[in-house]
Amino acid sequence: MALVVQKFGGTSVADPDRIRAVADHIARTRRRGDEVVVVVSAMGKETDELLHLAGQVSRTRPGREMDMLITAGERKATALLCMALHDLGVPADSFTGSQAGFVTDVNHTNAKVLEVRPDRVREAMEAGRVPVVAGSQGVSSDRDVTFLGRGGSDTTAVVLAKVLAADACELYTDVSGVFTADPRIVPAARRMSRVSFDELLEMCACGCPKPAMRAVEAARTHNVVLHVRSAFTWEPGTWVTQEDADMEQVIVTGVVPDDSEAKVTVSGVPDRPGIAATLFRRLADLDVNVDMIVQNVSDHGSTDISFTIPHPDLERALEAMAEMSADIGATGVSSDHDVARVSLVGAGMKSNPGVAATVFETLAAEGVNIEMISTSAIRISCVIREADLERATRALHSAFGLDAV
Ligand code: ASP
Ligand code: MG
Repeated sequence: MALVVQKFGGTSVADPDRIRAVADHIARTRRRGDEVVVVVSAMGKETDELLHLAGQVSRTRPGREMDMLITAGERKATALLCMALHDLGVPADSFTGSQAGFVTDVNHTNAKVLEVRPDRVREAMEAGRVPVVAGSQGVSSDRDVTFLGRGGSDTTAVVLAKVLAADACELYTDVSGVFTADPRIVPAARRMSRVSFDELLEMCACGCPKPAMRAVEAARTHNVVLHVRSAFTWEPGTWVTQEDADMEQVIVTGVVPDDSEAKVTVSGVPDRPGIAATLFRRLADLDVNVDMIVQNVSDHGSTDISFTIPHPDLERALEAMAEMSADIGATGVSSDHDVARVSLVGAGMKSNPGVAATVFETLAAEGVNIEMISTSAIRISCVIREADLERATRALHSAFGLDAV
């Protein structure tokens, strides 16, 4: 008998039919002899709708009240799912994050879990009942309701799997696993049967939408095995585990396209100590999440610095850079919306020379110009024109032998 944590995302419980289908699946898992602890997200687009609603009554959207509001979405889903389970004769109890023992810091709208005391969850399990826990929430050390942030239900599931010493943490979603590339862009993309935490983290960091990166980090830290799978077809999906000997055979695991960022260039920056520090401290203070940074070799005492940031941060960043450029003696600031990034990820890159050369040759053969390059031990990313993104993604996918045959 195994203990599995099953987490169902918003689309998995979007309407009454979906909730009944999920209840059926939980009942099947129990009949197979496994013990189940469930975590649910808010139904469908409910979190977005609640956020929108808040915006219609409030300009300031105070954090404490936002959290009270948003967490209602997950709470509603837990009660409905329990009702559907009862109808199938499966005893189940809903729990808010607080009832499930999630203690967080006081950072409203994006709280961190400090500790979990899952006594009530354990009691329910011992009584043969299925605990259904509301995702992405807890109670703060100040005894207020807190929300763990967007995608936080994945974190709830991982943390619960860790404290309960579950055998696996299943993340059910509307895709059937992690793919070698987005199948909407690369029809030949394949579902991976396994991927390592490190590879998945790199993929999340460069635009792979699911699962939530923070949860993958938590899973890696606590060594919680994840199984990303479909709540629509119920077929086995992708296992996320620590890297091991088998995995080293592939050099490249996936290609990740990302068009969510824009590029900013500050030109004619004087080449002296402290300038980059000043620029990037300012961006950090504005909470702008800088991704790639490239500084040119200096020519006659000045240089250009380019960096990429998420589109929604562009305006803020540009204003700040324009303000600062005069002070630091730069000659100008420009931005470019129409950039995109294509990244190649694979643990095997560490020990195989020639990957970068093949990437550049492949892009060259497609006539795609590379504007920026950055790498980690297991990733190569290139900034290119957004219009070239899909073509570049398909070409790299095929050049590295990832296409389904
Ligand atoms: N429902 C929240 C969201 O959409 C949190 C979650 O379920 O992960 O971000
Ligand atoms: Mg873009």
